Amino acid sequence: MEKKPFITKDEALKIIARYPTPFHIYDEDGIRKNCEAVKEAFSWNEGFREYFAVKALPNPFILKIMKDYGFGLDCASEAELALAKASGFSGKEIMFSSNDTPYHEFKVANDLGSIINVDDFTQLDIIERELSGFPETICCRFNPGGTYEVSNSIMDNPGDSKYGMTQEQIIKAYRILKDKGVKHLGLHAFLVSNTVTNDYYPALSKTLFELAARLKEEGIVLSFINLSGGVGIPYRPEQTPNDIRKIGEGVRKVFEEVLVPAGLSDMKIFTEMGRFMTGPYGALITRAINKKHIYKEYIGVDATACNLMRPAMYGAYHHITVLGKEDLPCTEKYDVTGSLCENNDKFAIDRMLPPIEDGDILYIHDTGAHSYAMGYNYNGRLRSAEILLHPDRSFSLIRRAETLKDYFSTLDCFPELGLSSG
Ligand SMILES: *Cc1c(COP(=O)(O)O)cnc(C)c1O
Repeated sequence: MEKKPFITKDEALKIIARYPTPFHIYDEDGIRKNCEAVKEAFSWNEGFREYFAVKALPNPFILKIMKDYGFGLDCASEAELALAKASGFSGKEIMFSSNDTPYHEFKVANDLGSIINVDDFTQLDIIERELSGFPETICCRFNPGGTYEVSNSIMDNPGDSKYGMTQEQIIKAYRILKDKGVKHLGLHAFLVSNTVTNDYYPALSKTLFELAARLKEEGIVLSFINLSGGVGIPYRPEQTPNDIRKIGEGVRKVFEEVLVPAGLSDMKIFTEMGRFMTGPYGALITRAINKKHIYKEYIGVDATACNLMRPAMYGAYHHITVLGKEDLPCTEKYDVTGSLCENNDKFAIDRMLPPIEDGDILYIHDTGAHSYAMGYNYNGRLRSAEILLHPDRSFSLIRRAETLKDYFSTLDCFPELGLSSG
């Protein structure tokens, strides 16, 4: 599918006049329409709730959009819990799905009334101690081990992943929790990331629903099943986007095949999607500033891997459009680079693009999830602003760009250096 920017060059120029490049921009209209589609796709399940994974796009203005659709938030740290609280979420609107958890964070999560998702069997004792007992609702995270196949092809290796409990451990955990008076038990698993297939959630549902049915035979009745994240997006133009309606239908079918006959038709279905919710509705806007010809052709831009780490970190593909040159043939082969003193600071390698000149505006697609959020400060490069494009095409700043003062703020305990005073 052709990948189209959600802003034109003229719109970009207007925004740049107020907020210089680089910045991430998010398409509110796209996010809202997608939220509606997700809600609709699972409307067959009365207890359905999407818990948006905060780590994907941890901006309170985005989180508040999620609230408009009745969604909750999935948090994994104290800071994410604080963001959830500041964005108006509380109680069962928050899932605390963390792992290797600092002990005091269980209390922070519990004080907000969040649903705690237990990643490891040994955490049961820690939670009981930290909270002086168990809350009424608890979720446990499952790892089936081995390899995970969807439609006869291996998708990932849960056996190599650090998350979740073995089947034996999780059954034991439910017995203990039930004995200790926990009233509402949940089951959670995240087995494969960024799946671009409509079959992942249905396959995962089968695994989890069958376990729920087995548990029921042993007298353990679950209240909810959390399918977690992993629903992907087409970063590459040749990929076919997931169809959330088909995914919702696929889960419904397995629900009717497995849970209904097991007498579990009240089961609430939760999801914790991040990437699918916002990924396609963000872009990194950056300017070409250094056209360099050595053994290869380089286009240096004013963004770096500090603004978008995925290509440097996993060799991830992000499509690039040169604004205003959408219809020109891609005749040139470029490496598109940032300025870090790290040769992996490249947004694209050997990418065919139209001829680019200094000053051209590059639109790097699909930065709505796991992009700004992974930002860092290597080489003293600063985090960019974030801008929200509203459905009426007006725009607002939803986070300012970092300044040198922010960068030096952790040296404010040494005022004699004169770095943190601005
Ligand atoms: C990262 C994460 C998610 C979201 O994953 P996506 O691939 O962005 O959908 C959901 N749940 C947990 C526990 C996670 O760690």
